[in-house]
Amino acid sequence: MNNIVAIVGRPNVGKSTLFNRLIQRREAIVDSVSGVTRDRNYGKSEWNGKEFSVIDTGGYVRGSDDVFEGEIRKQVELAIDEADVIIFVVDVEEGITPMDETVAKLLRKVTKPVLLAVNKVDNAMREKDAVEFYNLGLGEYFTFASISGSGTGDLLDALIEAFPDKPEVEVKEDLPRFAVVGRPNAGKSSFINALIGKDRYIVTDIAGTTRDAIDTKFDRFGFEFNLVDTAGIRRKAKVKEDLEFYSVMRSVRAIEHADICILVIDATRGFEGQDQSIFWLAEKNRKGVVILVNKWDLVEKDTMSTRDYEEKIKKELMPFTDVPILFVSALTKQRLLKALEATVQVFENRKQRIPTSKFNEYMLKVIEAYPPPATKGKYVKIKYCMQLPTEVPQFVFFANMPQYVKEPYKRYLENKIRENWDFSGVPIDVYIREK
Ligand code: GDP
Repeated sequence: MNNIVAIVGRPNVGKSTLFNRLIQRREAIVDSVSGVTRDRNYGKSEWNGKEFSVIDTGGYVRGSDDVFEGEIRKQVELAIDEADVIIFVVDVEEGITPMDETVAKLLRKVTKPVLLAVNKVDNAMREKDAVEFYNLGLGEYFTFASISGSGTGDLLDALIEAFPDKPEVEVKEDLPRFAVVGRPNAGKSSFINALIGKDRYIVTDIAGTTRDAIDTKFDRFGFEFNLVDTAGIRRKAKVKEDLEFYSVMRSVRAIEHADICILVIDATRGFEGQDQSIFWLAEKNRKGVVILVNKWDLVEKDTMSTRDYEEKIKKELMPFTDVPILFVSALTKQRLLKALEATVQVFENRKQRIPTSKFNEYMLKVIEAYPPPATKGKYVKIKYCMQLPTEVPQFVFFANMPQYVKEPYKRYLENKIRENWDFSGVPIDVYIREK
């Protein structure tokens, strides 16, 4: 499981530039293989072969000066809860501001590693100026310039060094790991309670790879599975997380740790921005997804049919629309077994391996019926294809001129795969390679 790094600091100190710098390094690698989209606040990075996730906690706070202390406090608390290591960015040009002091005060109490990173240090003079940041009481600092990237190497070395020791091998359990995610008040806890019962059918408690992610094993309706619980979820305790950003970021660890995300949405509110962000977070991490439209008991059935509702959601899911959507009620316990069955099915779908001969037999016919369109008079030939032996479904098609196979055709191939095999709820990758 990845370490999570949070970048904190007041607005305009260069958090986003640093964030982008960390993410781009990684995206450059990822992008060449798949078409992963970028997220403003969350992404993956790597240094010296170690992959980690980065959260830019300032991503939400737009504009600048009129940021209230409360907002910054929330930002830092989020980082403290969710991250393994915190990077606190300050600006040498401005020196120590009252808001920096506020942040430092919060961070001094934290037991997690904090790296103080002084930005905009691009000459010897400023290197000297940086000394004043010892006054923040956070010990040694790192100087860098996020625009040019100078100094980031040392910062990254220290970052990797600061990661807590985690057992390299994960608990090898073949049980599916489900995470129940969604906006506050969508009914996540109600759903879990309705499904599991107050007495909680706990078989064993398995500590996950970190102190923050706990897998609890359940046995319900004949299915065995682990529910992923995280500090962020457990914390819940009526914290008012009105801002979209906070509840999305609270889901990061659970989503990364799970195989399948059960996304609970509130039927009376629809599939809103926050739900979408969580959906794309799961998709981006190549996790299976099931959408539960909860509180269906509250919806006037005359005004809205499940079909209409489903269509509306699917419009928002484009192009990844092959996702199970179920209409449930945690209150009346309507269709809870169905929801669990659908989730287990998505888990099975994600695990399935199509034998190469069967895959070729079907796909080569499909390709023959509708070959890649000729580009600049060139005819692309695909002679062979297979599913890769990867953890999540990936398919490769070998072609004489892969560069001429464009996105729409890849989507055509993906759709055909989905038509013939059940990959409902599962993101899949299609690659075209030189044969
Ligand atoms: P969470 O923040 O996502 O865990 O949401 P909760 O489980 O705490 O539920 C938020 C509120 O919605 C509570 O008042 C629940 O009683 C209510 N609620 C949850 N599920 C349903 C449902 O299916 N139908 C109705 N009518 N209310 C629900």
